[in-house]
Amino acid sequence: MSEPVLVVGAGPVGMTGALVLARHGVPTVVVDALPGRMLEGSRAICVQRDVLDVLERVGAGHDIVDLGVTWYSGRIFYREHEVFTMTLPVPAPGHFPPFVNTPQNSIEGVLERRVLAEPLIDLRYRTKAVDISQDDTGVTLLVEGPDGPESLRGSHCVAADGNRSTIRKLVGLPFEGHSFGDKFLITDIRAEFDFPVPERRFYFDPDWNPGRQALLHPQPDSVWRIDWQVGDEYDLADEQATGALDKRIRTVIGDIDFELVWASLYRFHQRRVPTMQVDRVFLAGDSAHIMSPFGARGMNSGLADVENIAWKIAAVRGGWGGPGLLDSYDLERGPATDENLRVTKATMRFLCPADDDEWGRRREVLERSVTDPAASAEIDSGKLSEPYWYLESPLTTRAAPEVIAGFPTEPGVVRPVVAGVLCPDFAFPDGSRLRDRFGARFTLLTSVEVGVPVVADPADPGYGLTVVVVPEQSVVDVSAGVLVRPDGFIAAVLSDLGELGGALRRAAGW
Ligand SMILES: Cc1cc2nc3c(=O)[nH]c(=O)nc-3n(C[C@H](O)[C@H](O)[C@H](O)COP(=O)(O)OP(=O)(O)OC[C@H]3O[C@@H](n4cnc5c(N)ncnc54)[C@H](O)[C@@H]3O)c2cc1C
Repeated sequence: MSEPVLVVGAGPVGMTGALVLARHGVPTVVVDALPGRMLEGSRAICVQRDVLDVLERVGAGHDIVDLGVTWYSGRIFYREHEVFTMTLPVPAPGHFPPFVNTPQNSIEGVLERRVLAEPLIDLRYRTKAVDISQDDTGVTLLVEGPDGPESLRGSHCVAADGNRSTIRKLVGLPFEGHSFGDKFLITDIRAEFDFPVPERRFYFDPDWNPGRQALLHPQPDSVWRIDWQVGDEYDLADEQATGALDKRIRTVIGDIDFELVWASLYRFHQRRVPTMQVDRVFLAGDSAHIMSPFGARGMNSGLADVENIAWKIAAVRGGWGGPGLLDSYDLERGPATDENLRVTKATMRFLCPADDDEWGRRREVLERSVTDPAASAEIDSGKLSEPYWYLESPLTTRAAPEVIAGFPTEPGVVRPVVAGVLCPDFAFPDGSRLRDRFGARFTLLTSVEVGVPVVADPADPGYGLTVVVVPEQSVVDVSAGVLVRPDGFIAAVLSDLGELGGALRRAAGW
């Protein structure tokens, strides 16, 4: 098929989507209303390890790590007391860290370079999507570009046009949810602190922001993000004009030299579309959901969305994906969205209590945490982003009902390796990573040497099965085989290789 996929929005989600499609040989036209990539501004900084793998599959993960700062220590303070310290594990050489702080515009810079080098991607700036229609065979997008209006035709459309999404409105989807009363002030400053290692600090009720909180996050080049919760009436322009912003920053950093790199004010929202698919149009990233950034779940989940839909579109166009594959996008990413909204909502209720009862609970937990280390587990300063699980997806050869019923869903707990979770990574004896050995399509992990290609399905439409032999003692128990999808999720844990054909057909949406 020569028709492209149309991608609206060249933010991190749209560009990654186009790169995943190109990896599968699918051409795209990517349109963005902006005159070029935005160099100014400060939004996402924190990229989660498994999302670095999404980015690495399009050749960008290691570059993004190299441009960022890795932090292994997170500290929480209540007034003058340190009440919690979290230490993250240091990865083996060549493996990704749990989190890396790379500013969103650097991430976009890396992605844009990859996009511009990719002949299958036609990136058009100054090109605004203004209308869309679809029929049984494709999508027609009306755009206004530098040369006037133009009609583009594609097989499918990925709407990655951000939280004010035009496409969302044009396909008639509401953006249901609510907005928070308080605002958040983001200040990025360049300063030399005497911290021994880059660390994230969260201050509850500090003397200098009583009743509220502030977050300090490291960025590259000695830049620090200070994130303040401020009242609805807060006026940034006034604080800048009167010098009050300078005083505000000095209350945190003291009398050291600093340079203000960026300041902006945000109101956070919790919203999602009721469905992420309207026929051939798929919403991904902020066009489909927005959430408070405490936990860094916005861009991270948007990148997981877009990898999910991109391989599925490629599979259906290439004939190796079946008729149920595209519908599984909303069935998988819809619950992931609900989970991210549930977790970030709980965080925001701790950070911005809605009533006296919630304020009372917050105060009680924080007071108790000064003397009782166990209470610090109840402090919610953001539950960091993690991959979702597709245990009951139609693509998954399901685990036993009791395994699904007992699956732990609370944020941050170690997930058992069952069908539907992201396949864990590990190091081979030579130091190389399992995930680097996954094929572009399906991968079979097995512990026995398979000398000849497995004939899994006599009617194989092109699953492109890559076979990887893993050591007996690894984090993945492969008694017979583990089938891994193109996005790294476990589609099936096989007790007999004879089950492989059926598992493959299911995982490909047949
Ligand atoms: C203060 C702050 C901190 C954050 N921190 C984190 C974090 O640490 N980690 C994290 O994961 N997330 C974080 N986020 C969230 C993250 O910034 C967003 O989730 C992310 O930008 C979403 O990417 P996107 O590509 O979906 O949308 P966007 O980045 O908004 O890109 C959308 C693109 O679509 C284009 N567009 C819009 N309309 C049209 C149209 N009609 N035609 C053509 N083009 C159009 C726009 O010009 C834009 O380029 C943070 C957000 C904020 C505000």
